[in-house]
Amino acid sequence: MGATATARTRLLQADPGGGATVRWNLLIAGASRRDPLAAVSLYKSMQSSSELRPNDHTFPALLRSMAMQPDPLHLRHFHAHLLRLGLLRRHAAAALLRAYGELRLPCQSRRLFDEIPRLDHDPVLWTGLVSSLSENGRVSEAFAALSAMRSSVGIDPGAAAAVVSGAGELRQGQLLHAMAIKEGVDVADPRLASAFVHMYARLGGAAAAAVCFRAIPASSRVAACWNAVISGLAMNGDGSGAMALFKEMVAGGEVPNRVTLISVLKAAAELGSGEVAADVLAWLRPPASDVVMMTALVELQATSGEVGKAREIFDAVQGKNVVCWSAMIGGYEQNSMPEEAIRLFRLMMKEGEIRPNAVTFLSLISAGAAVGAAGLAGAIHKQAAVAGAGADDRVFSAMIGMYARSGELPLARRLFEERDRGRMSVAGWTAMIGAEGIHGGGRRALGLFSEMQARGFKPNEVTLVAVLSACGHAGLVEEGVSCFEAVRRGDFGVAANERHYACAVDLLGRAGKLEEAMSMVETMPVEADLPVWGSLLGACRIHGNVGIAKKVEGRMKGLLRDGWGSAGHLVLLANLYKQGGRRDEAVRVRAELMCSPLRKIPGRSFVAVGKVARGFTAGDASHEESELIYAELRELDVKVREMGYARKRRWDGREEEEGEEDGRFHSERLAMAFGIMISRRGGGAETGPMRIMKNLRVCEDCHEYTKAVGKVIGRELIVRDSRRFHHFKDGFCSCGDFW
Ligand code: ZN
Ligand code: ZN
Repeated sequence: MGATATARTRLLQADPGGGATVRWNLLIAGASRRDPLAAVSLYKSMQSSSELRPNDHTFPALLRSMAMQPDPLHLRHFHAHLLRLGLLRRHAAAALLRAYGELRLPCQSRRLFDEIPRLDHDPVLWTGLVSSLSENGRVSEAFAALSAMRSSVGIDPGAAAAVVSGAGELRQGQLLHAMAIKEGVDVADPRLASAFVHMYARLGGAAAAAVCFRAIPASSRVAACWNAVISGLAMNGDGSGAMALFKEMVAGGEVPNRVTLISVLKAAAELGSGEVAADVLAWLRPPASDVVMMTALVELQATSGEVGKAREIFDAVQGKNVVCWSAMIGGYEQNSMPEEAIRLFRLMMKEGEIRPNAVTFLSLISAGAAVGAAGLAGAIHKQAAVAGAGADDRVFSAMIGMYARSGELPLARRLFEERDRGRMSVAGWTAMIGAEGIHGGGRRALGLFSEMQARGFKPNEVTLVAVLSACGHAGLVEEGVSCFEAVRRGDFGVAANERHYACAVDLLGRAGKLEEAMSMVETMPVEADLPVWGSLLGACRIHGNVGIAKKVEGRMKGLLRDGWGSAGHLVLLANLYKQGGRRDEAVRVRAELMCSPLRKIPGRSFVAVGKVARGFTAGDASHEESELIYAELRELDVKVREMGYARKRRWDGREEEEGEEDGRFHSERLAMAFGIMISRRGGGAETGPMRIMKNLRVCEDCHEYTKAVGKVIGRELIVRDSRRFHHFKDGFCSCGDFW
């Protein structure tokens, strides 16, 4: 105040008349920004001087400062004052109008606008009105005002930008865009174009946002605009588009903000490419306390397959929240490290400060399903119930799947029965159909499928896959094929995808219709992927059809080279050739496999002993009781031979473990030997089935072997492989030797 008073005195002394008004205006404008009351008192001094006349330029700044006051009283006072002076026009009127808008009084803006003679409605006034309406959520009124402005003075980019910023839905924004173009408004005007970018990015029109962004001259692209378009693309799933723009932004010297970085990290994680991850990480070092950013980094590393690095980052995070913990648990789960996921969850619970949520449980349940230990599934179920996550539809469906994959079909059924079927989600129905399916309950699966439809539920893509594979597992070829035909006709309103085709190939393969399967794959409307060819190859193996296998190999090669799939397909192929007497071809494929960079998935089997599951790899010697286990296995070998088991082939055709000429030390055999040893120690009182979980398909030799083991120990054996469950009982398997 003191300084302003001195300035005023000096001003009065220096130049009491004429050009002084201009200087007073400047003085008031300056004061307005800092201290509205000082500005008002300056104005009063100005008024009291007989030589000074307030003009158009005296008021805008003053009115703007009035809008900062919570009480509209001052503003109304000035409104009346301006009317008395006859100065309510042009800049002053526009400023008053905007000030009402800022005070959330759009009706006052409207009234004021209508009070001003039509002839005085200039673009500035119109823009003020449109902005006031749009900023206060009156988008349709703003839109109507913009149309009226069009016929009166023409649309101004600033006014259009104001309406665009207020648009609440994409359709509205698109209409505005079309109108602006039709009216010849300069849509490349940086203000308007950036309003379009923000609007499209916000309302889910990421591609349009990118186009508008490109229309802005490079020199006018401000950081906010870059950020909006990049986040918009990332959120709409266009990860590569977001990454490309991000690189361009950084190369151009713009500094991305935190929101952009987080969305870029998410986009990179979705792309799951180590290369992209390295690019982002090259210059990103968030502080350890920035949990959101650090979590995004954990996710990025985990999805790029760098679990170790993800864990390092995770360990460094300060003040981890549930999202961060869930990201790491999920990271382990996605990288086929279910035991680690479960261990980390237990650590989280032990620390006791974090409450797990549905997302945490979804990862945990997947991990539980992967391990497949019955006791574990029950424990996870209990935890979810305690945390109140059991009511969540996704958690519920995942739990059904977990029980089913843990060999606990009755518990999966019980969980399903407990929920009101009328309020079941489609995912819930699908989970139960899938559960019946992998246990060979094709009829039950079909029954559920009819029931859900009768109750008015619409099956989705996943439901149909579950139904088709249930038919496949149960050998219901006719039912399966007719269901597939219905899918293909579009009866369910779902387009047949690769997974449906893979099921159909399985069905035809089971029926021995390999030619038919081949021609179906060749005429598929979507391109056949590796699982489809893999199914066909599996059928060729069962029927010993080298001719079609050779054709399949040709078609599959391109996909394999693109880095898809596992080495298992090549193993399958090599074994198939060998079996069919084509040694030369077998040797060639083996050689290719040697030089191939394809990821080899090591076979692992778990046996459930009490509440824990012990894991074994093929030829595993790492167990502390390794010698005893191998002795047990040798003994078992003798007994199963007495039961009539004979090793039929040195090679066979499943995706079995690598590096073993035969199945003698395949992981499930070690797991079985261990299980037998432990239950004998327990007094031999074990009566329930022995449960084995395997991550690859069971090979034919081990399948025969397991049948004999069941007879030897007089217990049911439930073996889960990567495809389904095998219930071995009295020397037979529930799969009917087709898997
Ligand atoms: Zn085997
Ligand atoms: Zn079987």
